[in-house]
Amino acid sequence: MAVSKFHPASMIMEAYNAGQRVFGESRPQEFAAKATSLPDDISWHFIGHLQTNKLKLVLPYVSMVESVDSRHLLSSVSDWAKANGRVVDVLLEMHIASEETKQGFSEEEVLEVLGQDWPGINFRGLMGMATNTDDADIIRADFARISEFKKRINKEFPSLTGFDQLSIGMSSDWELALEYGATIVRIGTYIFGQRV
Ligand SMILES: *Cc1c(COP(=O)(O)O)cnc(C)c1O
Repeated sequence: MAVSKFHPASMIMEAYNAGQRVFGESRPQEFAAKATSLPDDISWHFIGHLQTNKLKLVLPYVSMVESVDSRHLLSSVSDWAKANGRVVDVLLEMHIASEETKQGFSEEEVLEVLGQDWPGINFRGLMGMATNTDDADIIRADFARISEFKKRINKEFPSLTGFDQLSIGMSSDWELALEYGATIVRIGTYIFGQRV
C-alpha cells in the first residue's frame, strides 16, 4: 500500500497511472479532500489516529480502517456503520513497539474485543508498527510477536473467516515484515520521497 499522506494529488495520480490502486492516508480532512476528487477505483486505507468526531470525513470513503486503536473508536465505527447500513473493514492496531507513545490494543484487549459482538464491523486482521530502531533483532521480535498472535486468533476464533490481514512494515523495515507474514506493507517514503 502506498502511503500518500502529506503528498499532493498530483503525486498520487503519478503512482495511479503507473498502476498503483491502494493508498493510505492519515489525516481526516486531507483524506476526504483527496478521496472525493481522485478516481473512484482507488482503494483507500485510513492509517492515522482517528477521533470519533472525524468519522464522517473518513468512513464514507474508506475500504479499510487499519488504525482502530481503542474500544471507544471501535464502538463509534460500529454505531456509524449501523446508522448508515454499511459494514466497515477494520484492522485492530496493536501496541507492539517498545516506545511508550505508540497507541494500540494489548493482546488481552484484542481477545476481549473479538469475543464480543460488533454490528457493522468486519474484522480483517491486525496492524502494528515496530519499534523505531536500526536494531533488526528488536524489529524482528516485534513482528514475531504480532505474527504469532494473529495465528493464535485464527485458531481461537475460527468464525472470523475474514481475519486474514497482517499490516506490518514500512519503508525502513518492510523486508523484515515479509519474513513474518505481512500481507500489507505500508510504504510512504520509499515511493514518494521525504514528506515535507
Ligand atoms: C506514515 C506512515 C507509514 C509510512 O511510513 P514510511 O516510513 O514513510 O514508509 C506507515 N504506517 C503508518 C501508520 C504511517 O503513519
